Amino acid sequence: MKKHNFYAGPSVLNRGVIERTADAVLNFADMDLSLLEISHRSKQFQAVMDEAVATFKELLDIPEGYEVLFLGGGASLQFYMVPLNLMGKKAAYLNTGTWSTNAIKQAGFVDKVFGTETVVVASSEDKNFTYIPKNFTIPEDVDYFHYTSNNTIYGTEIRKDFDCKVPLVADMSSDIFSRPVDVSKYDCIYGGAQKNMGPAGTTFVVIRKDALGKIDRPLPTMLDYQTHVKKGSMFNTPPVLPIYTCLQTMKWYKEMGGVKAMEQRAKEKADALYTEIDRNKLFRGTVEAEDRSRMNVCFVLNDEYAELQDDFFNFATERGMVGIKGHRSVGGFRASLYNGLEMESVQALIKAMQDFEKKH
Ligand code: PLP
Repeated sequence: MKKHNFYAGPSVLNRGVIERTADAVLNFADMDLSLLEISHRSKQFQAVMDEAVATFKELLDIPEGYEVLFLGGGASLQFYMVPLNLMGKKAAYLNTGTWSTNAIKQAGFVDKVFGTETVVVASSEDKNFTYIPKNFTIPEDVDYFHYTSNNTIYGTEIRKDFDCKVPLVADMSSDIFSRPVDVSKYDCIYGGAQKNMGPAGTTFVVIRKDALGKIDRPLPTMLDYQTHVKKGSMFNTPPVLPIYTCLQTMKWYKEMGGVKAMEQRAKEKADALYTEIDRNKLFRGTVEAEDRSRMNVCFVLNDEYAELQDDFFNFATERGMVGIKGHRSVGGFRASLYNGLEMESVQALIKAMQDFEKKH
């Protein structure tokens, strides 16, 4: 049966991307060797790394003066590397969910050791992160303002590059390449690859070179962005296979018309599903309408139908939906509509919701 993959991450990838990766696992670059068994120092893999960096820069229209890195350690390691490398005295954070909270916590470790100050400018925790705080001031004496552009768990999203006097830093793990970004406003953009780029195992980091080398604390070699900039993401053995898959995804984005086309695609899929959630008497969305994410659509059964939760889950599962269970901190359902997901899958979910409504 055709499966419709709504997992939040690792998550759906374009089929052609998976096939090209599978081919390379069997025979990489006509070397008669697997991608899994070649040296990352081979000229063939160097070409993959170079093309991945160049394609990333092209797709996001990254200006001069920035480096793109592919590292290990996940977005979770960036929660610590960012403040360690970029917070001289003070940094501001917006708390919009679990991942922001984690980022703030890691910045707190830098505060403890180096006497810096992490300021939380606003939080939406009072309403279980169902909205994006609007009224807050970003102090002008901070080294950067950090936010999570898309809250994978709660389904809220910030689709603008804030205007402020300080550089931005964003965790774009779950919405990278789903809209154009004005990279010139950022000192750093980072994220795990396992949603809109490839399999788990690599982390992209876009870093403004001028932002580095400003702090005087000693940095462990692996945690120093300059190490990875100098060595072109090859200071230590890079995650060869995930980087290869990320390149295939980015080539597919280019073929499809780049991030503008992806933005349009994301909008169409999300609009279709939210329209059904708002129309269907059984369901309701969990977040403020204006803050709804295009990547992670969270919804629950209306109170009077709450006992149908397991029934709907089974009903949808029988029709090929996978990964629609909501995160335990929200409950209900979450349909992740990453770039690799086809409209056909969204329509299959909508049809399941309509058929289920007819039954009740
Ligand atoms: N940030 C966001 C927005 C995420 O959705 C996730 C994982 O789902 C993370 C950070 C953590 O990423 P990783 O598992 O790569 O450390």
